[in-house]
Amino acid sequence: MRTGLGFDIHRFVENRKFFLGGVHIPFEKGLLGHSDGDVLLHSLADALLGAMGKPDIGFFFPDTDEGIKEIESSKILGRALQILKDENCSIENVDIVIICEKPKLLPFYETIKKSLSGMLRVDTERIGLKAKTFEGLGEIGRGETCACMVSVLIEKR
Ligand code: MG
Repeated sequence: MRTGLGFDIHRFVENRKFFLGGVHIPFEKGLLGHSDGDVLLHSLADALLGAMGKPDIGFFFPDTDEGIKEIESSKILGRALQILKDENCSIENVDIVIICEKPKLLPFYETIKKSLSGMLRVDTERIGLKAKTFEGLGEIGRGETCACMVSVLIEKR
């Protein structure tokens, strides 16, 4: 058994769609990024790579590569999942904390969990998901950014 930890943060900007866990969340802003800015999928991919002792997603998908501009983050996660398979590892469980002042994410928990369950091919019962606000403090509290933390447990066979 091996654990992995991932963290990511992206800035909210106008005229971008907001994606979390591969789900489009209706909101007036979206997350800036070289990819679609899906902070959840990025931290999840990093947690999986970290559990295997691999470099982070910036190594596999450098933001200097114009060829992958606007790449869907599901493809980034897909790369981590391919490495997981190559390394004979399977996912035991995933636990996720989204840190975001707005919008309220509770109505999207089940949709996000189902989306992740499909991508990871693990039961929703093995996926923990919750969102926290920052109590109005700092950049997150002012709604300027969205962060995410993910922990994973994997098994190497
Ligand atoms: Mg990122």
